[in-house]
Amino acid sequence: MLSTFMVSLIFFAVCIIVQTVGIFTFQSNHKAPANRLFLALSIAIIIWSSGMALSTIASDAARSEIFRRFSAIGWSTFYAILLHFILTITGKTSLYKKRCLYLCLYLPAFLCLLAFVIPNGFNPYPYNLQQTNYGWINVAQHNVWDWMFYAYYIGFTLIGLLTLYRWNRKATDSIIKKKSSIILLSLVSALLLGTITDVVLSSQFHELPQMAPVIMLIPLLTIYHELQRNRFNITEVIDHRMSYISLFISILAYIVLSALQIFLLDKNIVIDSKFINATAIRGLAVQIQLLISIYLVLKENKLGYITSVSMNSINLIIAVAIMIKYNSGISLPGIISNVGVLVVITLLKNYKDKIATYIKKINTQVVKEKFYSRIFNQAPVGIAIMNGKYHMKNEEFEDISINPMYTKILGRTKEELQNVTWRDITHPDDLDADLAYYKQLKTDEIAQHPREKRYIKPDGSIIWASMSLSQFASLGENVDSHICIISDITERKRIENNLKYNNEHDLLTGLYNRVVLEKTLNEDAIISSPNKRALVCLNLSNMHTLNFRYGFRYSQTILKRITDSLRAFCNENYILFTPSEYSFIFYVKDYGVKKELDNFCEKVSEILRSYLYAHGIGTGIGILRIDQSNVPDTDTLLKKLMNTSEIAAKNSNSTNIIFYSPELDAQIVRENDIGQEITEIVSGTKTDRLYLQFQPIFDIASNRVTEFEALARLNSEKYGLVPPLEFILIAEKMNLIVPLGEKITLLALHFLDKLKENGHNTISVTINISMIQILDNDFADRLLQMVKGMHLNPERIGIELTESIFATNRAEINSVINLLRAAGLKILMDDFGTGYSSFSRARELNIDYLKVDKSFIDKLLVLKPEEAITGDIISMAHKLNDIVIAEGVEYEKQFSYLRDHGCDKIQGYLISKPLDQDVALDFLEKDWSVFEVH
Ligand code: C2E
Ligand code: MG
Ligand code: MG
Repeated sequence: MLSTFMVSLIFFAVCIIVQTVGIFTFQSNHKAPANRLFLALSIAIIIWSSGMALSTIASDAARSEIFRRFSAIGWSTFYAILLHFILTITGKTSLYKKRCLYLCLYLPAFLCLLAFVIPNGFNPYPYNLQQTNYGWINVAQHNVWDWMFYAYYIGFTLIGLLTLYRWNRKATDSIIKKKSSIILLSLVSALLLGTITDVVLSSQFHELPQMAPVIMLIPLLTIYHELQRNRFNITEVIDHRMSYISLFISILAYIVLSALQIFLLDKNIVIDSKFINATAIRGLAVQIQLLISIYLVLKENKLGYITSVSMNSINLIIAVAIMIKYNSGISLPGIISNVGVLVVITLLKNYKDKIATYIKKINTQVVKEKFYSRIFNQAPVGIAIMNGKYHMKNEEFEDISINPMYTKILGRTKEELQNVTWRDITHPDDLDADLAYYKQLKTDEIAQHPREKRYIKPDGSIIWASMSLSQFASLGENVDSHICIISDITERKRIENNLKYNNEHDLLTGLYNRVVLEKTLNEDAIISSPNKRALVCLNLSNMHTLNFRYGFRYSQTILKRITDSLRAFCNENYILFTPSEYSFIFYVKDYGVKKELDNFCEKVSEILRSYLYAHGIGTGIGILRIDQSNVPDTDTLLKKLMNTSEIAAKNSNSTNIIFYSPELDAQIVRENDIGQEITEIVSGTKTDRLYLQFQPIFDIASNRVTEFEALARLNSEKYGLVPPLEFILIAEKMNLIVPLGEKITLLALHFLDKLKENGHNTISVTINISMIQILDNDFADRLLQMVKGMHLNPERIGIELTESIFATNRAEINSVINLLRAAGLKILMDDFGTGYSSFSRARELNIDYLKVDKSFIDKLLVLKPEEAITGDIISMAHKLNDIVIAEGVEYEKQFSYLRDHGCDKIQGYLISKPLDQDVALDFLEKDWSVFEVH
């Protein structure tokens, strides 16, 4: 009898446990399909188990069968729901989305319901119930319906196992792998155990009750367990793992005690003892149940609370039922007691929930602290709490006073930092701005925003940091407390500085470039200052030719040397810039009088003169007084300055220093116009604007004209006759000298041809060739080709080279000269004595004629014959086997001297001015007897 009762109680206990976990899972997230199916699974087991409990203790076979049929609703549907659940958690949801598959899934369950639940003709006697020591049990008949059920439950369980197995194999996530293995294992063990108890053992020992619902607790609780796991559960500490055994035992004990009470009440048993009676036992049972309830609430958390409520509610219902059944107040204490228990456990639960919430908050705080501590210690930025000018030393905040990155960035240990103020380690140049920032922050004038500053490391090196301060209010009373966050931006600054440097400097010389100059001028233009300001531009000419000849390295070395010399003039009022490749600008601030600028330029010119001279570089210094210029904008200002310096560079006068004046603008316009005309001539239009004049060269010994110098003339549309020195320079600057020179050469050769035609076969023509021309590739070849093409005698052609040729590579010039000389042409050194020439240098070039510059001839008018060195030049030239031509001879006196000192030829107004072609031809007819030596 007791064993029957016990078996029944076990089934009831299963019901309560399953109901508890089912409800708990469902209410934790009722929308999740897996949770819904889990609830369905729980209900199936509850029906199964409660049916079994009632069937076991039924008073007769007929009643037992009714409960068996009720129980069958549970076990018939259980396996279908289980498979459905497995398909859901393994993600095979698409399978049963089709209606037919749904039908297939639940068809066997439906058939079982037909066979074992609803009484009908198919299976009229589904149960063979026998009374045993363990109550009514069913002895299997193994008819076709039984076999169908076996096939259904084994088949479905195997499909479920297979699905789980494949899920496990395919899973890459370790959590899924573990989950699937555990569920798989629980199902296998339940299958094995169920088969052993309900099939094997029950067929051997007919008395043994079928324990399947109890065994189903294994997979059910395992699944429940797995559904609840693997969450980031902050309440883990309070929601410790629940003990299923203690839960089960508690439920069992509770049910036993309930049964005991009913038993005592129902049977009206009288216990004949002085010590204890039935009422006392019932009271004791109620007290123990109260204890169990409280224990469950306290120990097993929410699950325990649901269990407690369920058990006490059932108890309450039973007590009310008894009261109604017996129509007596016998169970009234039980009802009150149950209500009391429900109230107590609910209060307890609420209290516990409050504590749990509190603990949860604390735990959250702990996690947050851990999180912030990690961030603090691993942050790639330096963080420190400051107390005024010191780093904080407060023990309470020791852990968060300075983080590791802060010490790393500043290169000092925590202790070192705590012993210096932030002012001590701040770069002196940044201190003032830092203090201002700090002050503003303290007075809440600014919100916290980052600022870039420099710190000094112990080794003296500098680091750049982006720093941001914010008040640290939590230190309440100390208003000076703030948090300092720094990040190392040294590398970024280095790159930025490099970029800035590249943007603002000329990389070769390291001087500020045009960008900075313009910026400075613009900034200063806004400031209305009484101070006088000026710009001094030093313009280098010929640099292109040097590049062309010797390559960039050579000219770069020269530029560096010039820069070094100019740097010596720099101070806070004389700032040096290099706005373009071959020019330097001094920005002069606060000068006194104009003379000061003059003196300055003289000094600059003086310092550079010999160096530039030695390298064949021309210079011009343009000065623009900003205070007097009335120039509207910086761009125009610089343009005018550059033009002034260029004009200065071209200046044929001795001085190459010019102050800007509005008249110079006209010169610039003129230059542009002339440039335009040269372009037109070169491109073949308006060629008649270019023509030649020919100046006779008189040979003293033979007393006749032996040569003509071809001199180019430009008859400008706008300006009339333009001097050759002017337009030749413009052509050189515009890179048009080569084609223009070729046109001039051609005209000169035509004149030579004319001479030939007129029978003057012995008369030569000399042509002026600029340095760029002679250095141009194939110059000699092209010239010789032309000479040959016109059938002219090369010996009647002279090439006049100015002495700037000395500045260039003599070997290279000589190779061209030699080519020409080999062909019979004569080479003349023009303007000897003005620039770079010296006899030692002249010797290095293979020349035939030396043309003594007009300046030496002019001196003959003012100096006594014994004081003039012109005679020495003539005799020296003769020693070098050069024929001497005196240029610019205008007076008889000069002629006499030259003749007396053995000069070979003279050229000048004394003989004739340059003449037009026809006039020149006529000129040859002139009688020269007046010049004959007497
Ligand atoms: P240069 O080759 O030394 O030519 C002599 C210059 O002196 C000529 O000036 C000539 O007119 C001038 N002259 C000659 N005798 C006297 C005199 O007794 N008194 C004065 N005051 N001047 C005299 P021009 O024609 O103005 O030429 C100036 C310079 O222009 C030339 O100096 C030459 O270097 C250059 N030049 C002229 N034509 C050409 C050319 O076709 N090609 C190149 N590259 N340069 C040329
Ligand atoms: Mg000449
Ligand atoms: Mg000359």
